[in-house]
Amino acid sequence: MKTDIHPTYHPNAKVKCACGNEFTVGSTREEIEVEICSACHPFYTGQDKVMDTAGRVERFRARQKAGSAKKEALATGKKTKTPQKTQKKSAAKTKK
Ligand SMILES: [Zn+2]
Repeated sequence: MKTDIHPTYHPNAKVKCACGNEFTVGSTREEIEVEICSACHPFYTGQDKVMDTAGRVERFRARQKAGSAKKEALATGKKTKTPQKTQKKSAAKTKK
């Protein structure tokens, strides 16, 4: 290793996370502060962490619910509605 060109290496650099978790890594900085770590990131915890801005998620879920309800209504109502439509069409065809 060439002298005087490498920063000092700290084999036990302290990493502090916003969630309170602390661990050590090898780094050229003595202390590192992070916002997210493997103890609190949703990917590792498997928990949903939704940043809800002005109830957007709730509105989306409501729309989703309404949409699925509509779909169900369509699926159940199709059997009765479609024959009427075809009847109308055939009636219109017979008129011409
Ligand atoms: Zn964390």
